[in-house]
Amino acid sequence: MSAVQGCKDMKTVGLLGGMSWESTALYYQLLNQGIRERCGGLHSAQILLASVDFHTIETLQQQGRWEEAGSFLADLALRLERGGADFLLLCTNTMHKVAPQIEAAISIPFLHLADTTAEKVKERGETRVGLLGTSFTMEEDFYRERLQNQGIEVLVPEKAQRLEINRIIFAELCCGKVKEESRQTYLRAVADFAGQSVQSVILGCTEIGILLKADQSSLPLIDTTHIHVESAIRQMLST
Ligand code: GLU
Repeated sequence: MSAVQGCKDMKTVGLLGGMSWESTALYYQLLNQGIRERCGGLHSAQILLASVDFHTIETLQQQGRWEEAGSFLADLALRLERGGADFLLLCTNTMHKVAPQIEAAISIPFLHLADTTAEKVKERGETRVGLLGTSFTMEEDFYRERLQNQGIEVLVPEKAQRLEINRIIFAELCCGKVKEESRQTYLRAVADFAGQSVQSVILGCTEIGILLKADQSSLPLIDTTHIHVESAIRQMLST
């Protein structure tokens, strides 16, 4: 008999991934590990994955062609739904800028990463957090506002730091490069947050956890990849 009710009738998660594949590989591994932990034996996660060429998406980001990126991802989301996905994850914080377009195209649930993150912050009883991510995520409203609407105060690093944090994501982490000097850059940003009475730091980019681990940080880290996966596993096993 299965360890958890729901293992037998597990739902299928649809992943919109490849942004970058370095973090999608992590989603794949964490989803399977989580299902094995809860269900035991040879149970593994039922996943449908659409993995894009990140070059295409990054070009659209740089050129500000968000509408096109949105319809491209909305079309893929619909294909996942038609293929049998019961609900969807978009495995990147940044591309949640076009989440409304994706949500409008599908009729299955979409687990919004900023909502699952806000839930986690509230569960921890915190109201003041730091946010690290791409420049889009740190500077624009689509992500921060969603947290602020839940009564969470969101701080970001100053401009020069933001630029370097963003550069490291695209030039290194999305290309599978992990460098000690870049870890130090992130740790300095965390230390600056600590000086501003921040309670924890959101790793609001799905690759940052590859570089920065909880035991290296002076503040608690909220890793959005892990939170997204946890919430997906709950949904997969819900009856
Ligand atoms: N995976 C990253 C994120 O969570 C950045 C890559 C992208 O621009 O989608 O924001």
